[in-house]
Amino acid sequence: MKVIEAKIVVLGSQGVGKTSLVVRYIGKMFSKHISPTIGASFFTCNISAEGARVKLQVWDTAGQERFRSMAPMYYRNANAALLVFDITSGASFASIKGWVKELQSNVPEPMVLSLVGNKCDLEASRAVTYNEAVQYAAAIGAAYCETSALHDHGIDQVFLSTATALLKLSATTLVSSMRSYDSNDGDHERLPIGTPTEEAATHTGKVELPAWSIDSVAHGDVQKNMCC
Ligand code: GDP
Ligand code: MG
Repeated sequence: MKVIEAKIVVLGSQGVGKTSLVVRYIGKMFSKHISPTIGASFFTCNISAEGARVKLQVWDTAGQERFRSMAPMYYRNANAALLVFDITSGASFASIKGWVKELQSNVPEPMVLSLVGNKCDLEASRAVTYNEAVQYAAAIGAAYCETSALHDHGIDQVFLSTATALLKLSATTLVSSMRSYDSNDGDHERLPIGTPTEEAATHTGKVELPAWSIDSVAHGDVQKNMCC
């Protein structure tokens, strides 16, 4: 089975719901630790897509975004980014431009970009139209999705489409920061007998230390399977 390992960074103004999205996606079974030195935390999850496996390292900030820039370590070897704004905040949408610039000056290699309009449950207070978001996404080569972390709407799709796009990128472009290999030990990697089927196993919460674990970075790790 083809396996790729990729890093995804979550960017956007403070308060748009980045942490809520990540926590909703990864699940709530871990206790979250944040490294004060770099102001970020990361979690890993496995996504099955198109007969391959994507090991995704998801990086979330710890309030550092209020300085409108992140530590270089946050961007290092990133392969994908979620650019999150709040559909009820025009200012949070306008600030996405700045985050795209940050990415361009910090990440030399090709990336998968997704523009995410969060809080779509607050339709009555919408300040950014679907069309203007779609147009901006097209202009920066990103996909556009609307989500609600509150109602758990659209989040699985964001991560699944990112994983699929990463597989495509790794198949068509040489990206030195992304590990890609064939795993012949698929039998060992299967979930133990007795665990739910893939469909039911969206929050299995298998805890293990990631291979790329860095001592100074606190992290949580869960196994997440998705069926499409
Ligand atoms: P961050 O600063 O970008 O990490 O944002 P947080 O995840 O801390 O969320 C900021 C606030 O927005 C919190 O009060 C959340 O409860 C709220 N929030 C996050 N996502 C949603 C959503 O989808 N809908 C609504 N109505 N509120 C949300
Ligand atoms: Mg946060």
